[in-house]
Amino acid sequence: MFQIPVATLGLPRIGRRRELKFALEDYWAGKSSEAELLATAAKIRAENWSLQKAAGASVIPSNDFSLYDHVLDMAVTVGAIPEIYGWDGGAVPLELYFAMARGSQGSEDECCHLHNGGTGVPALEMTKWFDTNYHYMVPEFSADQQFRLASTKAVDEFREAREQGFHTRPVLLGPVSFLKLGKRKDGGDPLSLLPRLVPVYADLLKRLAQAGADWVQMDEPCLVLDLTEEEQQAYRFAYDALAAARAPKLMLATYFGALGDNLPTVAALPVAGIHVDLVRAPEQIGSLVGAIPEDRILSLGVVDGRNVWRTDIAPLLDRLELLAKDNPGRFQLAPSCSLLHVPFDLGLETGLDPELKSWLAFAVQRIEELAVISHALSVDRANVSSFIAAASRALSVRASSPRVHDARVAGRLAEVSPTMTRRSLPFAERRRLQQEKLALPAFPTTTIGSFPQTAEVRRARAAYSRGELKPADYDTFLKSETDKAIRWQEEIGLDVLVHGEFERNDMVQYFGEQLTGFAFTKQSWVQSYGSRCVRPPIIFGDVHRPQAMTVEWASYAQSLTDKPVKGMLTGPITMLQWSFVRDDAPRETVCRQIALALRDEVQDLEEAGIGIIQIDEPALREGLPLRKADRSAYLDWAVECFRLASAGVKPETQIHTHMCYAEFNEIIDAIAAMDADVISIETSRSRMELLQAFRAFRYPNDIGPGVFDIHSPRVPPAEEMTNLLRKAGEGLRSSQIWVNPDCGLKTRKWEEVRPALANMVAAARQMRVVQ
Ligand code: GLN
Ligand code: ZN
Repeated sequence: MFQIPVATLGLPRIGRRRELKFALEDYWAGKSSEAELLATAAKIRAENWSLQKAAGASVIPSNDFSLYDHVLDMAVTVGAIPEIYGWDGGAVPLELYFAMARGSQGSEDECCHLHNGGTGVPALEMTKWFDTNYHYMVPEFSADQQFRLASTKAVDEFREAREQGFHTRPVLLGPVSFLKLGKRKDGGDPLSLLPRLVPVYADLLKRLAQAGADWVQMDEPCLVLDLTEEEQQAYRFAYDALAAARAPKLMLATYFGALGDNLPTVAALPVAGIHVDLVRAPEQIGSLVGAIPEDRILSLGVVDGRNVWRTDIAPLLDRLELLAKDNPGRFQLAPSCSLLHVPFDLGLETGLDPELKSWLAFAVQRIEELAVISHALSVDRANVSSFIAAASRALSVRASSPRVHDARVAGRLAEVSPTMTRRSLPFAERRRLQQEKLALPAFPTTTIGSFPQTAEVRRARAAYSRGELKPADYDTFLKSETDKAIRWQEEIGLDVLVHGEFERNDMVQYFGEQLTGFAFTKQSWVQSYGSRCVRPPIIFGDVHRPQAMTVEWASYAQSLTDKPVKGMLTGPITMLQWSFVRDDAPRETVCRQIALALRDEVQDLEEAGIGIIQIDEPALREGLPLRKADRSAYLDWAVECFRLASAGVKPETQIHTHMCYAEFNEIIDAIAAMDADVISIETSRSRMELLQAFRAFRYPNDIGPGVFDIHSPRVPPAEEMTNLLRKAGEGLRSSQIWVNPDCGLKTRKWEEVRPALANMVAAARQMRVVQ
């Protein structure tokens, strides 16, 4: 009997217990060899393959693994390696791969090109993957870019799986999405390179076929975006060409939204299968089944690859049953997208409250859910009835749980009025009052908040959370770190100081732990970029603030210095965006609840004498809906939430915000509407290109363009930063400009931060002299 296949589009590659993270960091620190790193990577792949099979998957991916990032892998695969990395055209060494990912430090001896005669090379740009918090490396092309197959990783991993008894479906990022996600250095349209790129894909597909692959998953997530006629044409061109090659069958994978107006294009592409996201866009199933030719396999993304709530299987089955009966043999079942974006296994969370746990499903559980759905549809629903009933029961408990609903929160929300979202004076007047109060020099210097979270800081935190370090001793330790940070900032001459955020484990978790409605996991990590992982909180219920969260630390730091200390908060949109958000209330309602809690905190800080308060919103851009038609509604409530959090203060209190790793063009109106007195943004990697949006808009308030990259260990000389500041000055008023790094410094070492910030202060002073 035919059983509907269960496919996974990709599994978390960091490893069940983040084995890859530790292996990478040891390797980068010179503590382990390349062979050891590669052995760990191979072990993770082997475990993932067998685990997926055990959980009930029948279509198992390969090449979903990556040592750093799958977009970078694709760039390397097709030889899109910018000249500065000095590729000799042969096999791509690991050192070069990691230089593209992380930059490389200069070295005295000119041993090789990557040390670039002592200055090192910068990393590729990094940006967010669609509307997720995963970051990819932006491929960089030259106008005369040539491509050629430079890595056989996809073929090698297919073979590796086969040797272990797994006949996999390799995953490639499709050629159109790959180009569209990249950049041409000269600003031209990267899609113009498609005719040169497609033959390399054809070559790779042919090699996969020769190795025995009968299907390949081609990820083309750009098919859920608004596409121009030329872009649709690019899809036709690429896939017609690939169909003519002796390629395996292609499963064209789309996710993160509906195909919408791209459906006719997709339906006409000569591929053997199409995967669609039926969690974000369940309504598209009707039109798809009609529009897509019957000989295509449809892969139905029916369980959520982006969120952690257990699937209510019974109603889903009711919807799928008839469809499956009418279309025998036509479907596969899959998560909505790769499981990269959810934690590995709920089973690791032994300490989580059992009731809450019964409402959740992570990557492994998603595959189990799919296996049950497949069994119910193709064999017998009765056999799996207890699993289905357990899901329904858990979800009905959740719907009426008193820990989810709090009438006081709803009451406060109902009282929010428009005046609560407006500052009492316009920016120009506030600025004058703030200038009088703060008396800052031109080109004021500051940092974004965090200072190095050294091994010592992390050790102390771990000892404290295990109960081995008494609260009073932990407090003393944190105070001494803060003392040092303040003294040191005074020494190098920064103008606006920060306390250093040593007490914070994570910029969202720290706040979530002090708010109601948030739950935290212990082992449930999700990759953010490279070896960096985050443990997103789970917002399961109404949010409010039982007591002040940051006032003590801010006041303590301020008591140590006459310079102004910035209070540091994480903004409502970022808290929302970096959490797994409840699916039983609109996101904007959850965001307003958080905004109200932060508003109380802002007011408490002001009352405690903190004159500058920064509310970080690095995630504002990534929350932007992928389709233009949905954007203004989102931006309206997002801006309103920021203002609700920030606008309650006196005019002389200076509100900062911070954003990073995003394109600002499309949201510049909204950024201006947030009306923060100062915004700091990450701009150094794009060599100030990102400022263009602010220039063109004539952004009225103050702005601190990041002058050094915090992802790289490299220490930029002061001249490099003055050059960037001069570049920033073209088109901005110099009185508008603040001087700061790209982002927080918690991932760096003091040995890197000290000289970099000292150079930054020197750069600002030079700018003041020139003035
Ligand atoms: N204040 C935060 C920090 O410095 C901001 C981090 C961020 O933008 N992601 O760590
Ligand atoms: Zn940042």
